[in-house]
Amino acid sequence: MVSSLYGVSEERPEIWVYLEQEDDHLEGVSLELLAKGRQMADQNGWRLAALLLGHGVTGLADRAFTFGADQVWSLEHACLDQFTIEAYSHAAFQAIMTGKPSVFLLGATPNGRDLAARLAVRLRTGLNADCTDLRLEPQGGLMVSEVSGFGGGVLAFIEMRHHRPQMATVRPGVFSQEDIPAARKGTIVYLPVELHPDMIHTRIVERVVGAGVDLTRAQVLVAGGRGVSGDFDLLEKLAGLLDGQVGATRPPVDDGHIERERQIGQTGVICSPKLAICCGISGAFHFVVGIEKSGTVIAINSDPEAAIFEFSDYCVVGDVKQVVPELIAELSAIREAPRV
Ligand SMILES: Cc1cc2nc3c(=O)[nH]c(=O)nc-3n(C[C@H](O)[C@H](O)[C@H](O)COP(=O)(O)OP(=O)(O)OC[C@H]3O[C@@H](n4cnc5c(N)ncnc54)[C@H](O)[C@@H]3O)c2cc1C
Repeated sequence: MVSSLYGVSEERPEIWVYLEQEDDHLEGVSLELLAKGRQMADQNGWRLAALLLGHGVTGLADRAFTFGADQVWSLEHACLDQFTIEAYSHAAFQAIMTGKPSVFLLGATPNGRDLAARLAVRLRTGLNADCTDLRLEPQGGLMVSEVSGFGGGVLAFIEMRHHRPQMATVRPGVFSQEDIPAARKGTIVYLPVELHPDMIHTRIVERVVGAGVDLTRAQVLVAGGRGVSGDFDLLEKLAGLLDGQVGATRPPVDDGHIERERQIGQTGVICSPKLAICCGISGAFHFVVGIEKSGTVIAINSDPEAAIFEFSDYCVVGDVKQVVPELIAELSAIREAPRV
């Protein structure tokens, strides 16, 4: 068995969270991980630290303290101005080898996944990807990561007994952000980092920022499946009347009817709206995990035996092409009716 670069005897009883930042803003998943990390650190009397990499970003440390961090490790360098895997993995590696945390958590975002994989190899440790829950054993500080496998038929609980840090990625929306008293303060560790532009083999030619829809924050979600036959304009109208967002199952995304960032489910976004309206969706496990935290679920499906009905509070057996326009007409009439 290959040994990790540091082991259990050298680890510090600390949980580290990678703070993903962009344009002076911390990603929601980083705040969610701070909340979960705070909970686990408090249960074991451990320290919660955050790793902040960038250029001119140390000001974000205050936000990390507000969301539960005791300490922020700040690595600033002009080469960290924009995410490149070479610079970020080099800097994170240096910080981890200095701080030797027991646990290191990252958001399962495109950059977070990239960084986690590269670091796990360099540190010769394991990586539990896309965890659906995390727990720290009170004795010995072993982290138990819950991961679903085989199409959701199996829940695996994975422990990393000998390798450190215990690394895991978690997708946005799996944990919730916690409101922590704003007065929280912590300490900043400034770690100088040695980087040179020659080390970076990626050249950023152009940055194209997407519409940036964040389905994890939607209060109302109108989701469409294959049964919608690509007519997402209809669902847009319904979502608009309810101040909601439109999401989708994987088939319409694969068919190019809607952007991938709107895919809900195991390989998409985990949502927790107050209301989810599922239109023409069969209810496969891979999709349902993305909406099971919803307050109320309404499903519209022409098949009375559709599995989605087992997860729904209100079941409408019918054709989406008939039911949704009727809903739109009713809601429009309510909106337009004069208030008395
Ligand atoms: C590893 C892996 C990961 C995956 N990850 C995801 C994921 O993240 N998200 C995801 O969604 N899927 C994911 N999938 C795919 C998933 O297993 C299902 O295939 C998918 O969710 C099915 O999408 P659907 O319900 O839109 O389509 P279908 O299963 O084809 O269901 C369409 C439904 O529409 C109904 N319908 C048809 N016409 C109408 C109509 N006119 N009016 C009303 N109802 C109608 C039908 O009765 C049917 O129930 C994954 C699969 C794998 C193997």
